[in-house]
Amino acid sequence: MSAPGTLFIVATPIGNRGDLTDRARDTLAGVDLIAAEDTRHTGQLLAQLGIRTPLYALHEHNEAGRAAELTARLLAGARIALVSDAGTPLISDPGYRLVAAAAAAGVTVVPIPGACAAVAALSVAGLPTDRFVFEGFLPPRAAARRAQLATLATEPRTLVFYEAPHRVAETLADLAAAFGGERPAVLGRELTKLHETVYRGTLAELVARAAADPNIARGEAVLIVAGAVPDAVSDSAELQRLDRLLAALLAALPLSQAVDLAVEFSGARRNRVYERALALKRGTPG
Ligand code: SAM
Repeated sequence: MSAPGTLFIVATPIGNRGDLTDRARDTLAGVDLIAAEDTRHTGQLLAQLGIRTPLYALHEHNEAGRAAELTARLLAGARIALVSDAGTPLISDPGYRLVAAAAAAGVTVVPIPGACAAVAALSVAGLPTDRFVFEGFLPPRAAARRAQLATLATEPRTLVFYEAPHRVAETLADLAAAFGGERPAVLGRELTKLHETVYRGTLAELVARAAADPNIARGEAVLIVAGAVPDAVSDSAELQRLDRLLAALLAALPLSQAVDLAVEFSGARRNRVYERALALKRGTPG
C-alpha cells in the first residue's frame, strides 16, 4: 500500500489577484488534483496563472459523497488541493467534511493561508480584536435572524458577520434593533477591490447611511459590530458600592462630574450611574 498523500487547504484572493501567495500558486501547480467549489470560476484563475492541474467539483451539495471519494484517492497517495471561490476554504465555505474525513483517515492536512474577508475587515475595523466571534451568515428569514440576534445582544466580544449585498440594509436595521443604535460598527465593502469602502459609525448611523447611499448595498460586505459593554453593576453588593462612591462624589462635585468619575471608577453603564445619582440626590435611592 502506498503512503497517504496530502490535502492542501489553499486560500485564494477575495478580490485582488495580487493577494494569491507564491506558495498557493506553487501548490496549485504541483498537486495532482484541485477540488474546487466552482470549477469554472477556479478554471479562470488557473488559466490566468497558466496552471493546468485537473479540477474536480466539490461543493455544498455533493461534499458528503465526494469527501469519501477524495479521501480514498488521498489514501492511495494523491496530493490534492482544496480551494473555494474566494478566500479561505471552510470559512463560510465548503470543505469541513472533506478535512474531517481526510484527518480521520490519517491523511496530513496542510494549510496554505491567505486572504479571508473576516480577518481583512477586522484588521481595519478599529474595534477590539483581542477576542471576537465569527457568526458567518445570519439566517435569511427575518424571524430566525432576529431570534439569533437576540441571543447575541449581550455578547461582549466583537461580532463578525458575512452578508449578501441585497440584505445588508435589512440586517443593519435588525442589528440596530437588537443591539441598540448606539453600538459602534464597521461595514467593510468590496475589500481589496476597486470600490473598497470602509464605513464606520454607530449602527444607527450605518442604517441611515444605507438608506441614503445605495452603494452601501452594492458588492460584498462584512459587518463588524462592537461587543456589548458589560454592566459591572450586576448585584446588590456592587450597587451598594456604586451608591457609596456616588454619595462621596456628589458631596464634593456637581452631578455630571460625579457621574463621569463614577462611570470611570465603577465600569458601570453611564445611564445606570446617572439614574442612581439622580435618585441619591432626590433622596430616593430605593
Ligand atoms: N471563504 C471566504 C473568506 O475567507 O472570507 C468567505 C466566503 S463566503 C461564501 C462569502 C462572503 O464573504 C460574502 O458574502 C461577504 O460577506 C464576504 N466577502 C467575500 N469577499 C469579500 C470582499 N472582497 N469584501 C467584503 N466581503 C467579502
